[in-house]
Amino acid sequence: MISAEIVSTGTELLLGQSLNTNAQYLAERLAGLGVYCFYQTTVGDNPVRIRSVIEKALERADLVITTGGLGPTMDDLTKEVVAEIFGLPMETDPEVLGRIEAFFQRRGRLMPENNTKQALIPAGARIIPNHLGTAPGIIVEGEGKTVILLPGPPFEMKPMFEETVAPYLAERTKVSPGVLHSKTLKVVGPGESVVEDRLRDLLQASNPTIALLAKTAEVHVRLTARAPSVQEAEAMIAGEEAEIRRRLHPFVYGADEETLASVAGRLLSEQKRTLAAAESCTGGYISHLLTNVAGSSAYFLLGITSYSNEAKAQVLGVDEAILQRHGAVSPETALAMACGARRLSGADVALAVTGIAGPGGGSEEKPVGLVYMALAADDREEVEKLQFFGDRVTIKEKTAFTVLNRLRL
Ligand code: ATP
Ligand code: MG
Repeated sequence: MISAEIVSTGTELLLGQSLNTNAQYLAERLAGLGVYCFYQTTVGDNPVRIRSVIEKALERADLVITTGGLGPTMDDLTKEVVAEIFGLPMETDPEVLGRIEAFFQRRGRLMPENNTKQALIPAGARIIPNHLGTAPGIIVEGEGKTVILLPGPPFEMKPMFEETVAPYLAERTKVSPGVLHSKTLKVVGPGESVVEDRLRDLLQASNPTIALLAKTAEVHVRLTARAPSVQEAEAMIAGEEAEIRRRLHPFVYGADEETLASVAGRLLSEQKRTLAAAESCTGGYISHLLTNVAGSSAYFLLGITSYSNEAKAQVLGVDEAILQRHGAVSPETALAMACGARRLSGADVALAVTGIAGPGGGSEEKPVGLVYMALAADDREEVEKLQFFGDRVTIKEKTAFTVLNRLRL
C-alpha cells in the first residue's frame, strides 16, 4: 500500500479562524481508498516553512497532498515551492489560461492580471481541472514521489478530489489493493474512563483497531479494520462490535450517522407514539435536536420554551402555588410542565426539563447543574433529579442528551 501525508496550508488555519475541514475530508477518503496516512501537517502561508514541511513529508510518505495556496494572490505560493523542490521551471499552460479567461467571460468580468499566474504550471505536471474556480490542481511526479496540489476552498477541492485524484489513487493502489474501513458506535451514559475500563483488553487489538473519542455528552467507539475488501472489513468489525455492545449494554444507542434524536424518533415511530417537549434550561435545544431529524413531524407535535415563571404558569398551566412553594427548579414544576405540554398538544408522551445552567443562580440546596427531568405519558408520570458539571453550554447539552436517552430506555 502507498502512504500519504496531508499538508494543509493557510495562516488562517494556524490562527484558528478556519476549521481544517479539508484535512478531515481527505483523511477519511484516503482511508477509504486504502492509502495509509501517518501524518497531517498544517503550515502558514510562508514559503520557507511550506518548503520545509513538504520536504519533510516527502521523506516519510510516497505521496503528499496539499490544500490551499493556489490562488492568484501574493500569499499563494504552494505551487512555486513544489516546482522549486522538484527543480522544475514554471510554464504557462495555454489550455489552463484559456479556461481561466473563459471563467471570467462567463461571469461577464475582465480577468485581473494576477490571475494569469494561475496558468503557470511546473513543467510536465498533470492538471486537475477545477470547474468551480480558477485555480487548477496539479500532480507532480518525480523520483518515486508524488505531490498533489489542491485549492483551499472546500467546494472546489472536494469535486476535484473525487473527479481526478480518487481515480488516480485507486489506479495506483491496485498494485497492492486494500481498504481501511471504519464504523463508529455511539455510547451515551457512562464516561470515557468507564467505557475504557470495560473495553480495556479489546483496545489492545490491532486489526480492527478500537479507539475511544470523548464528546461532550457521548463517547464514540471507532472500529477500523484493514482488509482486502469492504465486505471483509465489515465482517471483521461485526465480530468485535457484538462483543462491545454486549459489554456496554444498554448504553450503545446507535452507529455512524445515527443520533440520539434519530434513534428516539425511530422508536416513537415504531410505537406509533407522538411527543411534545416543554423546556426551560435547555432553551429549545431538545426540540432543535429532535427536529434535525428528517421526518420528525410524524411524531414531534409541539415544543415550548417556557423560560419565565409567567410562561410556565400561563402557557403550560403550571399551578402558581407550585412555583411559589417549590420554585421553578423542582420536581413538582418539572412534572407540571410535562403534564401541561401533554395536555396542550395531545401527544402520547411529553417531556420537560427545568434546571440551573449557571454560571450564576445556584445556591447550596440548588447548585448550578441541578436539573429535573420529567416524563408524562398515559402509563407513567415520573421525575428524575440530575446533577451535571461544566459550563452553561455543557450543562444544556448534557441535559438534552440525557433526556433523549431517557426516551429510548
Ligand atoms: P483562493 O483561490 O480562494 O485563494 P487557495 O487555493 O489559494 O484558494 P487559500 O487561499 O489557502 O486557498 O484558502 C482559501 C479559503 O479556503 C480559505 O480562506 C478558507 O476559507 C478555505 N480553506 C483553506 N484551507 C482550508 C482547509 N484546510 N479546510 C477548510 N477550509 C479551508
Ligand atoms: Mg489563496
